[in-house]
Amino acid sequence: MNNTPYYRAISKEIDVFEHSYKNKIPFLLKGPTGTGKSRFIEFMAHKLNKKLITISCHEETSSTDLIGRYIIKGAETIWLDGPLTTAIKEGAIIYLDEIAEARPDVIVAIHSLTDHRRELFIDKLGITLKAHKDFMLVASFNPGYQKGFKELKPSTRQRFIATSFNYPEPKIEAEILVNETEIKIEIAKKLVNIATKIRNLTELGLTETVSTRLLVDAAKLIYSGLPKRLSVEVAIVEPLTDDIEVVEALKDLCNLMI
Ligand code: ADP
Repeated sequence: MNNTPYYRAISKEIDVFEHSYKNKIPFLLKGPTGTGKSRFIEFMAHKLNKKLITISCHEETSSTDLIGRYIIKGAETIWLDGPLTTAIKEGAIIYLDEIAEARPDVIVAIHSLTDHRRELFIDKLGITLKAHKDFMLVASFNPGYQKGFKELKPSTRQRFIATSFNYPEPKIEAEILVNETEIKIEIAKKLVNIATKIRNLTELGLTETVSTRLLVDAAKLIYSGLPKRLSVEVAIVEPLTDDIEVVEALKDLCNLMI
């Protein structure tokens, strides 16, 4: 198929998702940022030939943002469906990226959609909407991020089928870099070695370590002609931390490795 998003399967996630979709069981992708969660959902939506609606949740995201609101247009007040309501009506896949970031009322609003009822109560309209048979709810969650703060309650988690995403093993990660950027395999392997090394430096206490996304960015810069060391510095080292000493130490380390 043309313009299918490139996704390198890591385990059985494609099969698992297809069966979840068949049974319309909500799906939760767990894992650190930049590990292919969004790409996987884009790929699956394309494979299943379904429209995908993505919402990047943040601390201000409320159920109103998802469900809809009245707006004033001229002399009229009209109702505007939010993305969740649209997805329910059209039978799309909705992807709530970083669901734990959203306000608690979002979790409350989706409860009746995540069980056998598959319906959404729209309080502002006083109606209950049955989901289209093709509708599916997908969410992502980063368990390590801001440890202890933004957790998902067990009562919410247990409404989903869940799969873990993580940094792929070196051979696969190098393959992803080559596919994403057409960079030479030798350089891809060096970038992956740098990532592996930094990921193991747990004593640095980085909030998040080198993701596949950062490696893809570095590979893109190198492929477009920026010097390798500079590419690694700006795409891998600088985004990781603002601690000047750590930046210098990581730069030295990377310079030795590329
Ligand atoms: P997340 O949603 O987990 O934060 P993304 O899906 O945006 O991460 O992944 C970041 C980038 O990493 C993608 O744009 C893609 O280039 C690359 N990537 C990571 N894992 C894979 C994979 N398994 N197959 C293809 N590309 C991947």
